[in-house]
Amino acid sequence: MTDLTRLTAAELAAGIHSREVSAVEVAQAHLDRIAEVDGDAGRGVHAFLHVAADAALASAALVDEAIGAGSAPASPLAGVPLALKDVFTTIDMPTTAGSKILEGWRPPYDATVTARLRAAGITILGKTNMDEFAMGSSTEHSAYGVTRNPWDGTRVPGGSGGGSASALAAFEAPLSVGTDTGGSIRQPAAFTGTVGVKPTYGGVSRYGLIACASSLDQGGPCARTVLDAALLHEVLAGYDPLDSTSIDAAVPAVVEAARAGASGDLAGLKVGVVRELGGEGYQPGVRASFDAALQLLEKLGAEIVEVSCPHFEYGLAAYYLILPSEVSSNLARFDAMRYGLRVQVADTGSAEEVMAATREAGFGAEVKRRIMLGTYALSSGYYDAYYGQAQKVRTLISRDFAAAFERADVLVSPTAPTTAFPIGDKVDDPLAMYLNDLATIPTNLAGTAAMSVPSGLARDQHGGVELPVGLQIMAPALGEAVMYRVGAAFEAVRDAEQDGPLIRRVREWS
Ligand code: GLN
Repeated sequence: MTDLTRLTAAELAAGIHSREVSAVEVAQAHLDRIAEVDGDAGRGVHAFLHVAADAALASAALVDEAIGAGSAPASPLAGVPLALKDVFTTIDMPTTAGSKILEGWRPPYDATVTARLRAAGITILGKTNMDEFAMGSSTEHSAYGVTRNPWDGTRVPGGSGGGSASALAAFEAPLSVGTDTGGSIRQPAAFTGTVGVKPTYGGVSRYGLIACASSLDQGGPCARTVLDAALLHEVLAGYDPLDSTSIDAAVPAVVEAARAGASGDLAGLKVGVVRELGGEGYQPGVRASFDAALQLLEKLGAEIVEVSCPHFEYGLAAYYLILPSEVSSNLARFDAMRYGLRVQVADTGSAEEVMAATREAGFGAEVKRRIMLGTYALSSGYYDAYYGQAQKVRTLISRDFAAAFERADVLVSPTAPTTAFPIGDKVDDPLAMYLNDLATIPTNLAGTAAMSVPSGLARDQHGGVELPVGLQIMAPALGEAVMYRVGAAFEAVRDAEQDGPLIRRVREWS
């Protein structure tokens, strides 16, 4: 019998909609897989913080019932299971954002992303682990224990969306949703050999997404293939009046683009290699995989041109001023009164004391670090020197992108400077952790789109097994169609050259 957990979302949907297999069987196979490999923190993959088995089976049964009664499926993904990052509110499940301060909180409403998934008939299996409030690049800053990388359990899965990425690579779910503020979808995708997409800012609603940095946050699809990501993209994206920065425009036709890419070539397309990304500081194996990827793109008929984005070099510094500034403001709402944790202070405790004690106990070290940085950067007398300067850099980076997209249809770089690093390696060194996001941050600052597609495997200085490398493909705002076309074409030629999908080479978790 086919192992249902090894199929793509497109294959599962075809089977469910033609009644070869039921949505309930598909959901059960994934729940069994989760029970088998996810384990407790410290042992299993630990991609999930909450598994909603009964709700998942009930939702799948409704899909089977509708199909059995002859109705058209609610969407092309109806009945397909999915893992949701624990930063989207869900009325029927806890939502913690990886933080102790939200332990036990039950949101009173669904995020728009959650509501869209339900309306599409997608089976939500549960909520996935993440760095606290999406701050981090390894999932080690989760208050609930680290998620392991299925390729090598001693390695991190990347972050902040390590749970969403590991759930895919461990075959616990064929689809997941992440959020990307500085790379949290793309870098975990690169580390786990999966596909991750950061849509254009405003493309996917932020309503009910617990805010990290509102001007940078963007939800997006994660999958094991480009086509699956495209199918999910079309479910998630679209105008939402409940999000004031939502784009009121047609969703790019990414499914059509992915299908065209997979069976076509890239003749006439210009691919820009960003001179400032991919050189010094990048692991040799990552660079080699990137060079091989360029050759494959050329083989597909694309013209490779070099472009320069001179201000990308200041992206990291600007990001680590803008993000903490927004964080310091957004996280002020966790005041011990409105949500989750409340630490009681002896009966003389004032509201201020309760608030201080709750924030002291409820936030982890990285979150506190950023709240302090941001509060400092916004303080009077320093605002112009820090936050004001960073906003100017942001404009310069947008201009670099605009100039580069005059010369090329898409831009490419390695997604991250290294492959997945060992658990514990960078957790005490914030700067080393921040450097993971060198290549992904410019896209968030500019509000443009980008994706990571697996490009190959490489070994690092720590030895051990070969680990996945990601190719980053960047597109202009609302340029997702060309990005998916390139991604799908690249995936097809890479699979042809490298004996099938890379994900097949992931170790069997036991
Ligand atoms: N790793 C980056 C950070 O720590 C990005 C996080 C994200 O995209 N949410 O801020």
